[in-house]
Amino acid sequence: MSVDRLLPSDEARELIELTRDIADKVLDPIVDEHEKAETYPEGVFAQLGAAGLLSLPQPEEWGGGGQPYEVYLQVLEEIAARWAAVGVAVSVHSLSSHPLLAYGSEEQKQRWLPGMLSGEQIGAYSLSEPQAGSDAAALSCKATRDGDAYVLNGSKAWITHGGKADFYTLFARTGEGSKGISCFLVPAGLDGLSFGKPEEKMGLHAVPTTSAFYDNARLDADRLIGQEGQGLSIAFSALDSGRLGIAAVAVGIAQAALDEAVRYANERTTFGRKIADHQGLGFLLADMAAAVVSARATYLDAARRRDLGLPYSTQASVAKLIATDAAMKVTTDAVQVFGGVGYTRDFRVERYMREAKITQIFEGTNQIQRLVISRGLG
Ligand SMILES: Cc1cc2nc3c(=O)[nH]c(=O)nc-3n(C[C@H](O)[C@H](O)[C@H](O)COP(=O)(O)OP(=O)(O)OC[C@H]3O[C@@H](n4cnc5c(N)ncnc54)[C@H](O)[C@@H]3O)c2cc1C
Repeated sequence: MSVDRLLPSDEARELIELTRDIADKVLDPIVDEHEKAETYPEGVFAQLGAAGLLSLPQPEEWGGGGQPYEVYLQVLEEIAARWAAVGVAVSVHSLSSHPLLAYGSEEQKQRWLPGMLSGEQIGAYSLSEPQAGSDAAALSCKATRDGDAYVLNGSKAWITHGGKADFYTLFARTGEGSKGISCFLVPAGLDGLSFGKPEEKMGLHAVPTTSAFYDNARLDADRLIGQEGQGLSIAFSALDSGRLGIAAVAVGIAQAALDEAVRYANERTTFGRKIADHQGLGFLLADMAAAVVSARATYLDAARRRDLGLPYSTQASVAKLIATDAAMKVTTDAVQVFGGVGYTRDFRVERYMREAKITQIFEGTNQIQRLVISRGLG
């Protein structure tokens, strides 16, 4: 895959080249094996961190790359095109660092941000619970103040990188209602914190998704991020940025499926000609290409608004909706282009189709994106 990108600087061009090189040499040789065996790619995130790819949009003063969001998202797209599970985890790492960066005190940032942004500390985002997904305000995991600590009790669900991450950006209840939720930074080894077995998922096999259980876990009170009760607005502000990450991941998956489909359509012959030369199939490929290009333009538009400091919440939801629906359609059509072999594990297109599905569900289902968009209209 080599998309001809419009990039704002030479530095951005070099970053894309670097990412493609890492994708070719580090990700591509092992992706199929790990996705089939459902094994975690130890060392891969450390390599991405060492290359500076885990903190591209964060400020340089804290060890970030200081890149515009439009550049970070295109790098993320390149990673996801090669390995969606890794792309999702990179996006979730950024999502998890956002609350500390945007709401942490100077002292908290000095303590924890450099480790996060260097990629030594991989983050996970823990908002969802078994009974609180779309309705995040219904969460019930409790944080009760006790002297110089909060005592955590309850269960969290669906944590990307659960059990493997170094820190968990946790949302827990300190009071009643939607203003009774607070944000905490939980270290992985906290006494009283344990993880469930990895979920048996349809895709994204190489990075675990687990539950977490807090059983009288004492967390130092200085790990509260922002004010007590501010948690839900912190969670939603992080998700605005995170949804753009998922849009970029979805476009990466769709681009990879399109590339495989075009290659196959120019090799396979029926009725004495390449299948790409049958107009019915050529038009299918054309629609796939149009969907990928327009989805990319949609997330870039939202990212540029973010880079300019303009409101972009509605545009982020539009980008997530458009890009993930495009990914679902394009990957399904890619399986169609392959015919019978598309339905086997001999080719990557079936994996892309499974991976595309989750992008329509997490970080707000596409029904919830429509809710956000409709509220932003009036
Ligand atoms: C692989 C994977 C990774 C995940 N990673 C994370 C993570 O790292 N951190 C985290 O916190 N969470 C994570 N999640 C959780 C994910 O964000 C939730 O699954 C998602 O938000 C949906 O919540 P739910 O599963 O409870 O579905 P529900 O909220 O029960 O929704 C069920 C259905 O009802 C629809 N629906 C609900 N409310 C409305 C409404 N008001 N209007 C219209 N339709 C509605 C939904 O769109 C959906 O189709 C992950 C999930 C998966 C599967």
